[in-house]
Amino acid sequence: MEFIDLQSVNRGLAVPLPKCDVCIVGSGPAGSTIAQELSNTGLRVIILESGGFERHPSMDALNEVENVGRPRAPDQWSVRNRIVGGSSHTWGGRCATFDEIDFERRSWVSQSGWPIEFGELVPYFDRSAKHLGLAIGSGFTDESFWEFAGKKPPANEVDPALLLPFFWQFSRDRAEAYPFEYMRFGRHLTQNLGSNVTLLTGATASRVLVDANQWAQCIEFITLDGCRHMLDAQTIVLCAGGIENARLLLNSASGDRGGLGNGYDQVGRYLMDHLRGPVGSFDLAGSKSLQRRFGRYNVSGHLFRAGLRLSPEIQRQEGLLNSAVWLGETLAPDDPWEALRRFAGRNPDLPRDTVNLIKNAPLLFRGLNDYFGARNGFPRKLQELTLECICEQMPDPDSRVTLSEQRDHLGMRLPRVDWHSHPDESRTMWRTAEFVSDEFARLGLPTPRLAEWVRDRAPIPSSFVDVAHPTGTTRMSTTPTKGVVDRNCEVHGVAGVYVAGSSVFPTAGHCNPTQMIVAMAIRLADHIKAVTRTAATSTVAAHAG
Ligand SMILES: Cc1cc2nc3c(=O)[nH]c(=O)nc-3n(C[C@H](O)[C@H](O)[C@H](O)COP(=O)(O)OP(=O)(O)OC[C@H]3O[C@@H](n4cnc5c(N)ncnc54)[C@H](O)[C@@H]3O)c2cc1C
Repeated sequence: MEFIDLQSVNRGLAVPLPKCDVCIVGSGPAGSTIAQELSNTGLRVIILESGGFERHPSMDALNEVENVGRPRAPDQWSVRNRIVGGSSHTWGGRCATFDEIDFERRSWVSQSGWPIEFGELVPYFDRSAKHLGLAIGSGFTDESFWEFAGKKPPANEVDPALLLPFFWQFSRDRAEAYPFEYMRFGRHLTQNLGSNVTLLTGATASRVLVDANQWAQCIEFITLDGCRHMLDAQTIVLCAGGIENARLLLNSASGDRGGLGNGYDQVGRYLMDHLRGPVGSFDLAGSKSLQRRFGRYNVSGHLFRAGLRLSPEIQRQEGLLNSAVWLGETLAPDDPWEALRRFAGRNPDLPRDTVNLIKNAPLLFRGLNDYFGARNGFPRKLQELTLECICEQMPDPDSRVTLSEQRDHLGMRLPRVDWHSHPDESRTMWRTAEFVSDEFARLGLPTPRLAEWVRDRAPIPSSFVDVAHPTGTTRMSTTPTKGVVDRNCEVHGVAGVYVAGSSVFPTAGHCNPTQMIVAMAIRLADHIKAVTRTAATSTVAAHAG
């Protein structure tokens, strides 16, 4: 793999760019996965990455937004990382596949329904395991987890007409010394790519240009010194994240057209994220059984977390969105496992960590027994135990990204974000919390004290900001009047320009998006390989003829 760093001012112009067949914009989980899948093929691939290998204030500044809607995270670094590897640099590693109902057309969820089916993605979920460092890629999120884990399911299961078991799996980078380090896509990128791939860092894509027939022609990018460069490419894949993918298409306007692929004013619409936060809390005293049942499970060195999701039946019956719950743990300042982790990393906070270890020795012994005997995660010392809920958002065309009049320091217009929340999201969170409370009471488990806003059936608090899952802004649709990309993730009406990432999801489900992003990136890489092979074969045939 060739690596060219264009970050240093004035170096940009001096570097001759290699030729390329496929240009990938962004090296987060989507872009890195596609690059790896295209590695060691006959295709010449260039990755344009705006950031570098280290965080830099001038790169962070390129992620600024103008927010005019619902309150959002004020610090963009907490939700979007402009760096090689993208937001996997700071992500939480939680993976799961969407539920089958997420792909269905649901009469009570406007604009729901995907052009592709759940079953079509299963082989890609399986292949995503390698990229994400998962034990298995599919079939672990429901009750089949118990068989896979070699464990007995709980005897007193929740009522499946209301709630179903749900399991998340944590990504694991086995190359790292710390056993529970997540896969960070930038870390091993250069080793994982073949000689047909070139990575350009400090290269911020600004516009995609097409020819008169609406075929991809080239991409413009800007280096930190403000110089603009053109890279010819007949296949361009935008993998810049849920906000930036829309920003790039909108910024690629030419003449009186309001952006590339935007003939029907769809680019940037349907912005979703997840509403996530506490809907109740538990007394710590007497909560051990609950913590054990809805805790972490260690299966052959891979961690899983147990929770519950709303059943499809109750979603249909009450017209609810999809949602899930799990136990939220706030660690006590003297949690001994944190102290042990610091010792393992040769970075202890002496003498505080030594005192913590001695003081909490019984918890450590119980933890070792749990971990090696019962194969559960380590029990932690907590100061608070909450019921956390994550809720799907309603696709809303007025919740959207447009271009602001304000510009960043490279001269690009900022994304203007007008993010909305729908009343059905509040209703879904109240009902989910109520079902959990009633079911726990019926099963003799500790019941949560519901949060005041849930008890009062008030709207979701404004403290529930976006959680780094920007979704839907270049949604997949069968027709260009309803979305931006087709079932192959190619922009409607524009040949050779593709989009990858959660911006293509028509609906957001309750699930953290990255496993879906990686699975769909593999699917797109397969498609690109197939169409470029067909194009190469027809060129050879034409020459022969
Ligand atoms: C703190 C945190 C915790 C998270 N936890 C989880 C979790 O537990 N589970 C989960 O599933 N997800 C989680 N996420 C979200 C997850 O990180 C994203 O879903 C994932 O990184 C998206 O991948 P992507 O490749 O589509 O986009 P990104 O990761 O956003 O990557 C986009 C890349 O494009 C580059 N770029 C942007 N604009 C341009 C441009 N104009 N030109 C060139 N390059 C550009 C960026 O620098 C970046 O490298 C978390 C995110 C954060 C920030």
